[in-house]
Amino acid sequence: MIKTTEWKTTKGAKVLVTAELITKKTVNIDGDKVEIDCCEIADVVAEIDGFPTQTGFDRYMTPRAHPQGFQIFGAIGKLGITKENMVKVDGIIEDLKQHPAWIAKQAKIEKNKKEIADMEASRKANGYCEKCGSYCYGDCEAN
Ligand SMILES: [Zn+2]
Repeated sequence: MIKTTEWKTTKGAKVLVTAELITKKTVNIDGDKVEIDCCEIADVVAEIDGFPTQTGFDRYMTPRAHPQGFQIFGAIGKLGITKENMVKVDGIIEDLKQHPAWIAKQAKIEKNKKEIADMEASRKANGYCEKCGSYCYGDCEAN
């Protein structure tokens, strides 16, 4: 699933930003190329008229001042992203997250977290020692 958004730079160059949800990928297993299911949001790509394609999406913790006087909230490679355009990029990423595969993956992650928390709580209740990773009942600290 691919989502795109676009805008123009302050100098008028067209910017086309693409984000993709990958649900299948080819991996190399001992020299054999095997296609496996996955659910990942690929790197955000920016194609800018007259410039090389930019990759490497970065969201800044705090906005940075651009020499031309406006603020940059993130970047795709060397392309700075204004607040208005960050809303557009967030929008296409949010669209990808509406895909059933993504929603199912998040539900699975939550379920796993809960199961791990339940397992750890039950281990603790049964005397599991976090320090040595066994049911030592305090023996590891006795020496
Ligand atoms: Zn112990």
